[in-house]
Amino acid sequence: MNSPLALTSPVTDLKGVGVAVAEKLNAKGIMRVADLLFILPLRYVDKTKITPIANTLVGQSVQLCVTIQSANIRYGGRRSLHLVATDSSGTIDIRLFHFGKSQLSSLTVGASLLVYGQVSAYKNGVSMMHPEYKVLKSGQIPTLSETLTSIYPSVGDISTKRLSDWIAQAVTLVQQLDYQEFSEDFLREHRLSDLTSALAQIHQPSIEQGVIHFDDASHPALRRLVLDEVLSKQLALITQRQTVQIEPSMPITIDEHAHQAFLSALPFTLTNAQTCAIHDIFTDIAKPIPMHRLVQGDVGSGKTLVAFSACKQASKAGLQSVLMAPTEILAEQHFIGATRFLAPHGLTVVRLSGKLKAAEKRDTLVRIASSEADVIVGTHALFQDDVAYHRLGLVIIDEQHRFGVQQRLQLRDKTDGYRPHLLVMTATPIPRTLAMSYYADLHTSIIDERPPGRQPITTVTLPASRLSELSERIASLCAQGRQAYWVCALIGESEHLNCAAAEDRFAHLQAQLPNLRIGLLHGQLATEEKAETMQRFADGEIDVMVSTTVIEVGVDVPNAVLMVIENAERFGLAQLHQLRGRVGRGEHQSFCVLLYQEPLSDIATQRLTVIKENDDGFKIANEDLRIRGAGEMLGTRQTGEMAFRITDIERDAALLELGYAMAEDLIATKPKMVEEILTRWQMRDKEYLNV
Ligand code: ADP
Ligand code: MG
Repeated sequence: MNSPLALTSPVTDLKGVGVAVAEKLNAKGIMRVADLLFILPLRYVDKTKITPIANTLVGQSVQLCVTIQSANIRYGGRRSLHLVATDSSGTIDIRLFHFGKSQLSSLTVGASLLVYGQVSAYKNGVSMMHPEYKVLKSGQIPTLSETLTSIYPSVGDISTKRLSDWIAQAVTLVQQLDYQEFSEDFLREHRLSDLTSALAQIHQPSIEQGVIHFDDASHPALRRLVLDEVLSKQLALITQRQTVQIEPSMPITIDEHAHQAFLSALPFTLTNAQTCAIHDIFTDIAKPIPMHRLVQGDVGSGKTLVAFSACKQASKAGLQSVLMAPTEILAEQHFIGATRFLAPHGLTVVRLSGKLKAAEKRDTLVRIASSEADVIVGTHALFQDDVAYHRLGLVIIDEQHRFGVQQRLQLRDKTDGYRPHLLVMTATPIPRTLAMSYYADLHTSIIDERPPGRQPITTVTLPASRLSELSERIASLCAQGRQAYWVCALIGESEHLNCAAAEDRFAHLQAQLPNLRIGLLHGQLATEEKAETMQRFADGEIDVMVSTTVIEVGVDVPNAVLMVIENAERFGLAQLHQLRGRVGRGEHQSFCVLLYQEPLSDIATQRLTVIKENDDGFKIANEDLRIRGAGEMLGTRQTGEMAFRITDIERDAALLELGYAMAEDLIATKPKMVEEILTRWQMRDKEYLNV
């Protein structure tokens, strides 16, 4: 070893870590010495003292120091080595199962052992099954641990014992470091240990300090390490955001007159929340640094309008806007919407779909490159290589949760020398604590108000066995001129099976309701066919739309008042809320029927109850987090981007808030400390910071 060990040293610098082992550690994300400190003990054992055999209690785990009186191999059942051992207070039977020649040669009569294990009752006395043991040299005084011993989870096939050794080296190292620390007052106020003691106490607690329970967030040592982790992530994200913002954007000077014209052409007045969101956006885009804004708003809260108003301003400033949707159907809807609200103001709206015919696509690409197009609506096709924009100034991404950070950045890179303003809209409200870490590089506007006149949706659950009762209901609603959605079973992952289920239901409803016009929509139809079917539904030429979940996002037909969801028990809360949000968009009373297959699991029952009793997306999202946990909520890919090692989004919600609040301030006032925290926990090297 040349340079002294540091937290930033690769694990190979630790004694006992070779290349092969390092590879295994690296595979689990443990690259540097610092990473080891975030491996929390599963439990602690007490090897600080020796218990006399006579004082042991059955069930207790204890350390004994004994002398072997007899040693015999037994073959009945599993081959075992049977020791009878004593200390000055009593006798114990010890059974070992894994032993080879060398063990046998040292485990002989008269040898002294230090053993640690759980005591069980045996005949009239006590025994220990396969304890840990150490053979003492004759006359050797056993060395006792000074602290409790941590038992770590295994990493790959690396033994917890070896891991302990390396972690101990890291802890020793930290004790020698001298770094900037928060003030005593601050630590006291927030019930935090200083970092050195926190790490010592987590990994090597003294008997007096006792063990830490990791399932609550009350222990100052755990709290401190969590805060360090939260801060390091948050600081990294903000630093990253600041780097991006150094790159210039095209400022969009707001044309109030044009905005008023846009507003007065609308068939409704904006809600206050919409007005506020627009104000936030206009303030951002007027600056020569790129906007990074997330608009969160429940389904139907009118986010798209907000985005359109920004497109209008961009075009006034001579800049193009793109609006990216996660599905073709939604892109189609946005195209229709943008055309309806923006074309009358002289904007040219074009659509770029992955499925355009070659000639059509070529033509569209020319219109985009030549600056004829003002607003370009589409799906992922928008950031393919063959698309060249002309002064792209504003990027709007709808339903963000379906896009990874990677895609978001790919599109942003389609400009030379400056960054377009970025607006992200999501209808899947994310609990604040999650949003803080996942969207830390975005500012947030929340639309927490729905357009007036919306009636609450009545939600009922119905076992699938009573499905036939629905026909009459549908018939009568459609007789009044209303329309209905019928979303089919989610059958596993296979889109193919889902389509088949929709086809079956379509045939079944056609037979049951011969007087109604039934439509069918699923992922395997051609794009034009889907768009055409959707359009016919929007125009009222279809009464009942049978569909797979392709209908899920964004689709907007105010005359549809009934949403039937089959196999509702298989959907997640966010998805149910999204689907239900397809109705209740007009002036008529709307209904959602959740059909379920019996018997219902506990989780499914909870979910259906939540959705029945709540119509606020934010509340539902919080319930979702409670039921499912954070990991599942964002999907694995996304959590990978924000994964915490020890922070638990629920348990540590308050610390997340604290870290979030502190981060900007630290950057402004304590650059040295920020630098140190980022270096200490390796946040500089994380790949996601470079995208
Ligand atoms: P979402 O937030 O789900 O994307 P949309 O932007 O699709 O919502 O809006 C849903 C519907 O509400 C659309 O038909 C839209 O025209 C309408 N809408 C938007 N804002 C208002 C408003 N302030 N008053 C009445 N209707 C509105
Ligand atoms: Mg929408």
